[in-house]
Amino acid sequence: MAGLIFVFDLDQTLIDSDGIFEEGQNSIYNHLNMTLLRKALAPAAEFRDKGIAIDAICLLTNNSSREFVANVSSFLYELLQSKGRFSIIQGSPSGNSEFPEIDTIFDYIMVRQHASRNGSENPPKTLTDVAYMMNALNIPFRDVADLARRTYFFDDNPSHKIRQQLTTFGYPTHYTLIEGPDSVRGVNKGFIKGKPDLTDYKYIDQVFRRIQRGEDPVPVAPIHVTVVPMKRSIDLPPHLRGRTVAESMKSVYGGRRNKTYMKHLRKIYGRRLTRRRV
Ligand SMILES: [Mg+2]
Repeated sequence: MAGLIFVFDLDQTLIDSDGIFEEGQNSIYNHLNMTLLRKALAPAAEFRDKGIAIDAICLLTNNSSREFVANVSSFLYELLQSKGRFSIIQGSPSGNSEFPEIDTIFDYIMVRQHASRNGSENPPKTLTDVAYMMNALNIPFRDVADLARRTYFFDDNPSHKIRQQLTTFGYPTHYTLIEGPDSVRGVNKGFIKGKPDLTDYKYIDQVFRRIQRGEDPVPVAPIHVTVVPMKRSIDLPPHLRGRTVAESMKSVYGGRRNKTYMKHLRKIYGRRLTRRRV
């Protein structure tokens, strides 16, 4: 059974980085989101190290300070005593040799200016980034749907593209939105040091309970698609109804044709259905 992939954002998710530079390096501990560590990062690392259910733990951040990212991730390694594979593969062609050579808890670290990303100030976070990291780590996946099934994402930003992608593939609960008590103009400010983490961890709790019981952590096929050959009627989840397959593809890939995804769509919708309204 292929394992799960846990992907974390850094700022205002794992750590409140506001004011941390003024307080100096020793303040990393005081600024960490201990609830997220206890609920997700620590158990994921523990199961990964035992070779159970977790294939990879990755950091996907739009922070561009490699030094800061390296300091936090090496601190997390020291704190949780769990070593990821990034320190081993970072010098490889698909690693990131510009990143400081340190021991870290993560299996892959992707910063804002990673060569595979689009080079903007705030590059989107997508399943393509997860696919890149899995390829770099030599972790196989069947297709994008399989990747979505296995990916759990943690971020304080509600609008990263990967959230929409996970939802489109039928896994909206795989995106854990890190929420604190503060918001500015209705926008969630995420985790803030000294304030409660108001994140809903119930789906993550369920995942670890299932792993503990030795069950498949993602047991249910997400999208129930029934193709009835005579009528060609398709039972789709509400968020896909009334859209053409091409339109749903657009929402996932921004309109770009993608061979793997097209193959997946043909498999579930049948041939000649890309222009059909579903
Ligand atoms: Mg953030």
